[in-house]
Order: sequence, then C-alpha cells, then structure tokens
Amino acid sequence: MKKINYKSFPDKDGHFAKYGGQYVSETLMYPLSELYKAYMKIAKSASFQKELKGELKNYVGRPTPIYHASRISKELGNCNIYLKREDLNHTGAHKINNAMGQAMLAKAMGKTRIIAETGAGQHGVATATACARYNLKCVVYMGSEDIQRQKINVYRMKLLGAEVVAVNSGSKTLKDALNEALRDWVTNVDDTHYIIGSVAGPHPYPMIVRDFQSVIGHESKQQMKKINKKAHILVACVGGGSNAIGLFHPYLNDNVEIIGVEAGGYGLSTGKHAAPLNKGKPGILHGNRTYIMEDKNGQIESTHSISAGLDYPGVGPEHSWLKDNKRVKYVTVTDKEALEAFYYLTEKEGIIPALETAHALAYTFKIAKSKSKKNILVNLSGRGDKDIDTIASLQGMKV
Ligand SMILES: *Cc1c(COP(=O)(O)O)cnc(C)c1O
Repeated sequence: MKKINYKSFPDKDGHFAKYGGQYVSETLMYPLSELYKAYMKIAKSASFQKELKGELKNYVGRPTPIYHASRISKELGNCNIYLKREDLNHTGAHKINNAMGQAMLAKAMGKTRIIAETGAGQHGVATATACARYNLKCVVYMGSEDIQRQKINVYRMKLLGAEVVAVNSGSKTLKDALNEALRDWVTNVDDTHYIIGSVAGPHPYPMIVRDFQSVIGHESKQQMKKINKKAHILVACVGGGSNAIGLFHPYLNDNVEIIGVEAGGYGLSTGKHAAPLNKGKPGILHGNRTYIMEDKNGQIESTHSISAGLDYPGVGPEHSWLKDNKRVKYVTVTDKEALEAFYYLTEKEGIIPALETAHALAYTFKIAKSKSKKNILVNLSGRGDKDIDTIASLQGMKV
C-alpha cells in the first residue's frame, strides 16, 4: 500500500479525501477565497512568522513546558506520563494560539472588526483578548442558553471591550452561534474577519486553525528531544479538535501511536454524549463534510457533555479522515470517568485541569495502568479555574 504523506493535506480545495470542503452559500465563496489567498501570502511569510513567534513568547507565554508527572506515573504503573502545559498560556488554554494568529492576520488584511462564536466562552475570551491587544472591534456571538451558564466568561469578554450578542435560535447554544456569526460575516465582510475557534467550518478554516495550533506539536517534539525521550503515545481530547490536531499534526508521519478522546457523556448507549466520530456518521455541518450527530431526518441532534468545550455535534474534517484511514484511534470517556481524572490530577500533582482536558487524562490513566514502559504525552489543553463552579455544584456547594 502506498504510504500517505499526512502533512500534504488538505488539497487546494480544502479536502481531506471525502471530508472538508466548502459547503456554503454562494455569497460566502468570495470571502473564503480572499481569506485563503491572504493566509497563503501573509501568514506564510517569514516576517509574519517572526512577529507571531515574538507575540507567542512575550504575550502568550510560550514555550509552554513539558512536565513529567512522576508521582502519578509511578502510582499507576511503569509508564511515564508527560503533560504539555497549554494550561499555562495567557487566558488559560490553547485557544489563544489561534486567536492571536488570526487577529494578526486580520490586522494585516486591513480588517478593523472581528467576530467570533463561543460556547463555554473560552474562545470568546481568547478572541476578545487578542482584539484588545490589536485594537480591533470585537463582537462575540453566544447562545442565550450558554450566556446563562457562563456568566463569568461573558463578563470577562465585556471587560475586555467585546460586545456579546445573544443568539436565541435553535437550541440557543454553540452551533446556533456559529450559524449567526457566518450570517454576520456575509453581510459585513468588507471590514470584518471571522475568527473560528476550532478546526471546524468551511475551508480554509480547518487548515488555518490547525497551522496556528501546530505550535503545540512542534514545540513538544523539540522539548522531548532535549530531554532525550521519545513519545510512544500521544493523547488529546477532541471537541472540534483543535488542541488535538495541534499536538498530532507534526507527528502524523512519525512512528507514534495517536489517540483522540471524545466526550462519552452519560455513555454512548444513552444517546447523551458528544462523540460524532464514535457514534455519528458523515454529513454536512457548518460548511464542511465530516462526522456529525444527526437524526434520521438530517436534523442535528442535541449533545451532552459535562464539559462545555466538548459539547459540539460535529468535529474537524481532518479528524474524520484520520479516523477512516486509521491513523488516529478515537475513543470515548464518560462524564464520570473525566471527573475522577479531574480529582486525581488535582490531588496528586497539584494541577487543576479543565474538564475537557480531564477526558484526555482519564484515558491516559487507563493506558498507564495497562501498558508497560511507554512514554505518554498528553495535551493538557487548559486549566480548570473556569470549571470550579460546575465542580462545586456537583458536590452540592455554591462558591
Ligand atoms: C475549547 C476547549 C477544548 C475543545 O476544543 P478543541 O478545538 O477540541 O481543542 C478542549 N480543552 C479546552 C481547555 C478548551 O478550552
């Protein structure tokens, strides 16, 4: 069989074999092609890359360290668990890597207004932060249901100068906010750039977001080399899939096992989960072809996860392709297992992870118990400060 060069995708039309592409209205084709051209010319230039590197270093706080979690490694068996500390980034997660890159690109394109969609509010906060940094007007679309659930992040965005627009259509959550943002973009494309927060959406977004997040994988490769270790297994959680592809992509052509962890919610058999790669089927959502959760009439199904950041009925098209050709294994972890992992890392290593990240950790702990002498590199995508309220209320407390 011919060996696939995984790094040569997508093709020029944004396809990862039968996934990806641009399933959008005619009016969106022009802004998407302008964005593609600008991205290839501006963002790939040496001067842009140099400036971005400086911003990531001095503003975001990169490189993030790799931490050998020796205490839990020993307690679980004889594997070694390494954590790529994206939680130490400015604003507390990997999302800022992409928000900074796209805000810089928008500025270079002469745009003065940024729009974004957000579910839990993490991407909204990262975008509002980058907009404050670059003096860009910022409008964030958010489902009215999510606005109720994420009051602190809504307030943070407002402090940062962003306008938060409530979306009252559909399930009043992330997918509806994304639809609304796309609508705004069509109308205001002259002065506006749309910063999508994950590797979803129509081409070229899955590629752009992946490229900006790949700093995670590139950095970690160098860092592991420096300490003379080779990662045998990579693990990351998958919502839209941006922190996962950011870690995975630089390793795709290497001899390393790769595992993505979806949100199993109450369990796959209950239907209450957010695991399109495990339980969905190929279809079209938000301008691309990918695995999605839809009912027999083609309506998008409601999803459930304890972590708002994984609560999305679709997934980036590159992951769908990597699943089909078996380069990456996609598994699930339930709410309950994620919670256990949350407590375990917090108590044994003094690191409070985001609930999204806790899914990757739960699966890592399983592997560490069942395998021997493997170096497991986990993407610690974000910190858990934002989830403290959720945890407290599960314990019957209000803080
Ligand atoms: C948003 C978020 C995720 C999920 O998004 P991806 O695009 O799948 O990475 C995971 N972890 C954290 C901490 C997040 O904020």
